[in-house]
Amino acid sequence: MKVKFKNSIHNELISIFGKDNVLIDQHQLYVYSHDCSNIRSKNIKKPFAVVFPIDVYQVQKLVLLANEKHLSLVARGIGTNHVGSCVCLNDSSIIISFIKMDKIIKINPINLTVEVEPGVVVENLQKELGKQDLFFPPDPSNQKVSLIGGAIAQSAGGPRGFKYGTVKDYVLNLEVVLPNGEIIETGKNCHKNVEGYNLTQLFVGSEGTLGVITKATLKVIPQSEANNVILIYFETIDEAANAVCSIISHHIMPSVLELMDNNTLKTIEKFKPSGLKTQYEACLLLEVDGFASTIAQQCETVKTLCYNNNAKDVIISQNDEEKEKIWIARRSSFACCTKLAPNVIADDFVVSREFIPLAVKTIQNICKKHGIIVCIMGHIGDGNIHPNYALDLNDENEMNRFNACRSEIIDEIIKLKGSITGEHGIGFEKAKYIEKSIGSVNIQLMKSIKNIIDPKNIMNPNKIFK
Ligand SMILES: Cc1cc2nc3c(=O)[nH]c(=O)nc-3n(C[C@H](O)[C@H](O)[C@H](O)COP(=O)(O)OP(=O)(O)OC[C@H]3O[C@@H](n4cnc5c(N)ncnc54)[C@H](O)[C@@H]3O)c2cc1C
Repeated sequence: MKVKFKNSIHNELISIFGKDNVLIDQHQLYVYSHDCSNIRSKNIKKPFAVVFPIDVYQVQKLVLLANEKHLSLVARGIGTNHVGSCVCLNDSSIIISFIKMDKIIKINPINLTVEVEPGVVVENLQKELGKQDLFFPPDPSNQKVSLIGGAIAQSAGGPRGFKYGTVKDYVLNLEVVLPNGEIIETGKNCHKNVEGYNLTQLFVGSEGTLGVITKATLKVIPQSEANNVILIYFETIDEAANAVCSIISHHIMPSVLELMDNNTLKTIEKFKPSGLKTQYEACLLLEVDGFASTIAQQCETVKTLCYNNNAKDVIISQNDEEKEKIWIARRSSFACCTKLAPNVIADDFVVSREFIPLAVKTIQNICKKHGIIVCIMGHIGDGNIHPNYALDLNDENEMNRFNACRSEIIDEIIKLKGSITGEHGIGFEKAKYIEKSIGSVNIQLMKSIKNIIDPKNIMNPNKIFK
């Protein structure tokens, strides 16, 4: 980009956002050329600038500027996605950081809704709602830092997905700045709405490729009265999976149904000792919730069913401290994996629940064959498996083995009619696999939708598909 043109754009950005809300320092821009995907690619560029809007009209002015000057726009929450969804792929990209649009605009306890700006931290939203005994269930494991705009654009999930669904199930209405600068609402702040096509769901999970979300109305529910956390150990993954089926068929809907494999247990114990039993192949982390009077009964039923399915140990938490200790261990699992090798790549697959043992064993075997360290955890209730591969991205030989390993795993998941992502999205990193999974007709349809909404390809170009 020519220096004169660059300077004139910088000046226009400063006139829209003010000097304090525009970053152009090269060192600071370097930070924004990464996200949690760890991707190394010569296609990834430093952004040309980062801007921090404080309202929708600043975003609108930016979109109009991008149209006029042929710039690309990449919306960014806090950059914790695992698939390169918010890295820049050309040197005329501007990152829109939403950290300054962080207001909880209105909690409506009558309608059971909350209106938020995209920069609200997910955990802060939950805490504020909790003060009114309200609950927003989606809980990406990094909810302490991730922003609601990122969670909506990525259609994030988390451990509570099995009983409560994921972000997509809670979005009623979005304010979006379209690529042509128009500001629309995709729906109404109502719990039911079938006015034509479901535009809201089109934008949920679209990874910032169709427009910029500047406000959201979310559904909330009453907080359950009580809960408890149970850890259950098994000698095989099959036994753990059988226990899960047995629990569900006895009409217990745990609010959380998580699986950790032996490598995950060992890795957590190595770096964040939490008293987990590392001699077992599989551990279920279960949370039950509901009226206080039902919790002890639910725990006892779960315990009996698990022992009937060959559980080796069932530990029911006795107090809040014990519950919190278990949750800290689970939420530390990714951080612990990062200590096994210089880098970690977090993966995300979904299979129909009956294929969980087969899928887990297949991933373990393929990784073993290629010499790749893997810790597998997942939201087993949803059939959602997260292998975390620990490796060195600078080791060419290891990366070649990893790429072969990953391709093989993806082929097997597709053979099982599974999905190559349940919550992390496609981004830049999985774009090479999506056609294999969903087929060329679906890809063409998606590309046509993108082309109608964003004919100049301004919004987060070259993500989801090439
Ligand atoms: C340790 C760890 C644990 C995780 N656990 C989970 C989990 O349990 N479940 C899960 O689903 N995910 C999980 N993730 C993945 C990721 O954190 C989530 O997808 C998260 O919701 C992303 O939020 P973010 O604020 O970091 O968004 P970013 O990574 O900054 O952005 C994500 C996408 O949203 C787009 N975007 C952001 N804001 C907007 C906006 N206002 N308008 C339009 N597009 C926008 C970006 O362009 C990008 O495509 C985890 C990640 C980490 C690092």
